[in-house]
Amino acid sequence: MKGTFPIEKFRELRTPFYYYDTQVLRDTLACIRTEAAKYDNYSVHYAVKANANPKVLSIIRESGLGADCVSGGEIRAAIKAGFPAGKMVFAGVGKADWEIELGLDYGIFCFNVESIPELEIINELAAAKGKVANVAFRINPNVGAHTHANITTGLAENKFGISMEDMDKVIDIALTLKNVRFIGLHFHIGSQILDMGDFVVLCNRVNELQDKLEARHIRIEHINVGGGLGIDYGHPNRQAIPDFKSYFETYDNCLKLRSYQTLHFELGRAVVGQCGSLISKVLYVKQGTNKQFAILDAGMTDLIRPALYQAFHKIENITSEAPVQAYDVVGPICESSDVFGKAIDLNGVKRGDLIALRSAGAYGEIMASGYNCRELPQGYTSDELV
Ligand SMILES: *Cc1c(COP(=O)(O)O)cnc(C)c1O
Repeated sequence: MKGTFPIEKFRELRTPFYYYDTQVLRDTLACIRTEAAKYDNYSVHYAVKANANPKVLSIIRESGLGADCVSGGEIRAAIKAGFPAGKMVFAGVGKADWEIELGLDYGIFCFNVESIPELEIINELAAAKGKVANVAFRINPNVGAHTHANITTGLAENKFGISMEDMDKVIDIALTLKNVRFIGLHFHIGSQILDMGDFVVLCNRVNELQDKLEARHIRIEHINVGGGLGIDYGHPNRQAIPDFKSYFETYDNCLKLRSYQTLHFELGRAVVGQCGSLISKVLYVKQGTNKQFAILDAGMTDLIRPALYQAFHKIENITSEAPVQAYDVVGPICESSDVFGKAIDLNGVKRGDLIALRSAGAYGEIMASGYNCRELPQGYTSDELV
């Protein structure tokens, strides 16, 4: 089954471009809202790094989610899209002074702190402004998610967060500093996680840490478990909306949340992944020795995930019903890794056909580069193309 697209409108646009189906996005957001609302104290933030297209951001903001930012630029993009600073969290191992100051000036909800030196600098910069910054500590729970090695973040060997052994020390330091207020713990174990068992392991770890803190009479109001819920790249039509029900249920069942605590989530991929496709035109069909190539005008500069993480994207020829043949689908960039898929079954391809690379709403447009002096792809929503 192929996706449905406004082909005639597409013909008028310069390729390659990103296309966002706002119905899918709105249905996804509605599902998140319904499922999270079953629990009194769940607060969901959107991880801006997955897609910061202003039109996409504005639809997400309308749904009432908060924003999870990892740079000053993302804070600016989120503010511009109308996200309230009071619902904004800021993570990242290397926050520059100006980025911290920006967060302080806007009065964001919380800095997710990843090291002692960072904590001291936030305290110093907040003092200079006569402010007190809310801080949560990102704890590295040493949990290995069953996902690609380049997108696990919760192992001791990863650069992220503060080790569990150092947690007590960091909290003690924070309690002595006058311009930071310690309000919570933060975790994020990786991305494209489909095995709920990984989140169960995280919950168990959080429960242990909470018991330790309670024994020390330390009260924390906020637990942030990050994001990471995966999407079904194989079946973008059949499973357009991720299983948020099981996701939130897993936390409800396994995490021992205290009655006074709020549980925060930071979802990126699961929010925007399925609503986006990269639309590209076939430049040439080239016969190789034992295979044929469909050469697209889109390349790894437009969608880097296959080259970077051997990621799979479903590929469809949306302008052909000709009998299926196998093609290696490649881009025009001067890199051997500029391949979207090998031996892919497509309806017979000819020059000028439009090819959709599905499930490209997350970590697609935002990761585009100008390598080879290429222009960045545009992004259009279905609202604009009616
Ligand atoms: C990337 C990131 C997220 C979002 O991850 P997804 O897998 O897209 O849900 C959440 N929190 C932090 C700190 C991140 O770096």
